[in-house]
Amino acid sequence: MNKFLSFTCGILMSLFFTNQTLFAASLSESKWENGQTLLTFFEKNKIPQKVYYNLPVEDKELADEIMSGQTFYTLHDGNTLIQALIPINEDLQLHIFKKGDTYGMQSIPVAHFSETMEVSLPIESSVYEDITKYTGDNLLASYFISGFRSSVDFKRQIQKDNKIAIIYERKYRLGKYYGSPNIKAATINLKDENKYIIKHQDGNFYDLKGNSLSKYLLTVPLTYKRISSHFSSGRKHPILGYKRPHLGTDYAAPRHTPIYAAGKGKVIFAGKKGGYGNTVIIQHDDGYRTLYGHMHKIDKSIKTGMYVAQGRKIGSVGSTGLSTGPHLHFGLYKNGNAVNPQKYLKIATSKLKEKEKEEFLVIANSYKNKLDSNIANNTTSEIFKSKDTSYVVYLNQNNSSNSIN
Ligand SMILES: [Zn+2]
Repeated sequence: MNKFLSFTCGILMSLFFTNQTLFAASLSESKWENGQTLLTFFEKNKIPQKVYYNLPVEDKELADEIMSGQTFYTLHDGNTLIQALIPINEDLQLHIFKKGDTYGMQSIPVAHFSETMEVSLPIESSVYEDITKYTGDNLLASYFISGFRSSVDFKRQIQKDNKIAIIYERKYRLGKYYGSPNIKAATINLKDENKYIIKHQDGNFYDLKGNSLSKYLLTVPLTYKRISSHFSSGRKHPILGYKRPHLGTDYAAPRHTPIYAAGKGKVIFAGKKGGYGNTVIIQHDDGYRTLYGHMHKIDKSIKTGMYVAQGRKIGSVGSTGLSTGPHLHFGLYKNGNAVNPQKYLKIATSKLKEKEKEEFLVIANSYKNKLDSNIANNTTSEIFKSKDTSYVVYLNQNNSSNSIN
């Protein structure tokens, strides 16, 4: 709470001291509605249409990146919009500001700050629920689970009162969680064994001995809620009604969830593909090919013929083509034949070597000691969860560079 207050006061104070003409305005927070566009936002706020039409093409394209459900901020004086800040991704936002009789728009960085947090807690109901309940951060819970996915069987091995500890970095913006958590190290104390994951500078998790925990040629291409349909050679199709094979795995996930290349390879298709809607196909080594269907958007940077690294973002979850709801259809082909992706996701292993390994082991050991002592002492950082707070911000009307970010 103190951090939150001092952060908010920081904004107020800096604006107080840098401006002479002050007035009170109300800041509100809203969600970008499905189907809302920058143009309809302008109409709603009585911003002349020509402001939109005069924008450079690049800015109009940026405006297409605004995702529905996105939280954005507006500052009004009475009914007049003075400023708006609309994020287009974690780091960039559109800043719309009143400028005399008209309005301007520019893209500016999103100001956020990050802190290292430490959490330790006993399991009471489930790992996911307990982390979410304790920290108010369900993304942290799913990243934790996916980090241990290859070393812990969450259904069978976890028992009540097993202890877990996490050291992670969290971004905050306006007193709320922002973006994704970055887990540095974590442990689960099972009945007869303690499991650890340590993030290496390559962005992957390793165990204490430096063995990679992403032992796959192919990794799961998204953080998903559940598998809504498994691979099968014949099933009743919910739209077509007749039985046809389901040549892949369907991962149910909210619209706009990022989709990542399951392995490194060459993009051999990126575009509309019949019932699969917006689709990307990647050719990997050893005759493997992956297909990503029903995407909401294919990232603009993804083009046929290019090479992508494993984990490269290629698009987002949607429901294009023949689809009953937002999900990723993930197809895997071995030498042209569809195979069950779930059986092929764990293939290769990798280890750190020599000097890199030595350095890693030193870091891993210090994380291990910290996690162990956090569990022994029940150490937990002060957590400030998301808050529904309305803000009053003081701004100088004549100086558009003072933004509320
Ligand atoms: Zn499917």
